[in-house]
Amino acid sequence: MTLTDKILNAGVVGAGGAGFPAHIKAKSKVEFVLANGAECEPLIHKDYELMLHFPKEIIKGLDLLIESTSAKKGFFGIKEKNAKVISAVSKHLNGKTELTRLGDFYPSGDEFELVYEATGRLIPPAGIPLDIGCVVNNVETLYNIFQAEKNIPVTKKFICVAGTVKKPSSFFVPIGTSFKDAIKFAGGTKVKEFGVFVGGVMMGHLTFDLNEVVTKTTAGLIILPKDHYLVKRKNQPEQNWHRIGKSACDQCSYCTEFCPRYLLGYQVEPHKVMRSLGFTKTGAAVWNQMAELCCSCGLCTLYACPEDLYPKEACDKAKTEMREAGIKFIQQKPVKVHPIKEGRRVPLKQLIMKLKLQDYDAEAPFYPKEISVGKVKIPLQQHIGKPSEALVKKGEVVEEGQMIGEVPDSELGANIHASIKGKVKEVTKEFILIES
Ligand code: SF4
Ligand code: SF4
Repeated sequence: MTLTDKILNAGVVGAGGAGFPAHIKAKSKVEFVLANGAECEPLIHKDYELMLHFPKEIIKGLDLLIESTSAKKGFFGIKEKNAKVISAVSKHLNGKTELTRLGDFYPSGDEFELVYEATGRLIPPAGIPLDIGCVVNNVETLYNIFQAEKNIPVTKKFICVAGTVKKPSSFFVPIGTSFKDAIKFAGGTKVKEFGVFVGGVMMGHLTFDLNEVVTKTTAGLIILPKDHYLVKRKNQPEQNWHRIGKSACDQCSYCTEFCPRYLLGYQVEPHKVMRSLGFTKTGAAVWNQMAELCCSCGLCTLYACPEDLYPKEACDKAKTEMREAGIKFIQQKPVKVHPIKEGRRVPLKQLIMKLKLQDYDAEAPFYPKEISVGKVKIPLQQHIGKPSEALVKKGEVVEEGQMIGEVPDSELGANIHASIKGKVKEVTKEFILIES
């Protein structure tokens, strides 16, 4: 069986948050394979811990991918400040892969940034790394590829639980574990009323529902008190940011001047998108189109804007509207890195101060013990593409690792496996519930 088949069988998807099925990347032919160990979300340290404790497995996963794609070289992006990780990884690097030392800036893990930093190449506007002969994988995806080669499917997710919890830590949990259980394994919360940022405060979503579950793409849970600045900022209904944005944006353009995609040379201009809140029709105006190449990093909203407005959210909405209207933006000038780019980068420490997170900026050490739960709710869509089709029925007994959801024939998707041994309690179009 080829590596591509093994990855498909094992249900490996991009674990860094994107959820792109990994077998597609494994069967492509490229020049460079990049391992993304940048980890930029404030307070999330799970990639740091994974690289520290499983460097050999990650490098092996990278080597497998270099081989399957016939790449001539690998790059491993790690932040320069993470000296311990650099040392752990370097011990296993062979002649095939070069270390790319990254500065401690947000968002140096953005694919466009990482590819440019490592190879000097710029991904075409609205393109993907494959367009310039590269594939990029998060380090946990590479760990899962290493496991897949041994026919071990993805049944666990490595997550970081941090913020106002008693024991900020990083650990593996069965996929489908509730946030309530996951938070318990980090010692529980220090406050009664809190919000949970799923996947990070910059690019993740905020929830108050502890029955939500960990999926193959959940990087971490950041718990913050309900009255924290970030919870209050994120918990705004759309009509509020829309109304305030319309009247209070003075077009200072700081949001654009700090935008990492703009600084790389892409036509992303959030201040123009803000104009469209007041003056243009939905999705059809040129100003709205300046959102198309935005990566939703959140810097404009949470760092740059002096008025605490919501340019990132305006860009997200513009992108959705354009998709719905079938409008595709074509960049009108060549991509050229802005001469001031280096001087405008945002140091992570500075971002943490601005976000009022300095009191929560702690390590999240690896907790190595096996974590078991009595119940998992496994979503059938945890990836880009079509949802999986359930292979089991209510009442069936399943083993851990058994395939319970399958990619529909010749569609883009990923297989799903039982993460615990137990009885199937419920099967819907959205999820499979298993109890031990
Ligand atoms: S979220 Fe804002 S800063 Fe980030 S890429 Fe989009 S427009 Fe630029
Ligand atoms: S930084 Fe804020 S006030 Fe300035 S243009 Fe952007 S959204 Fe408007």
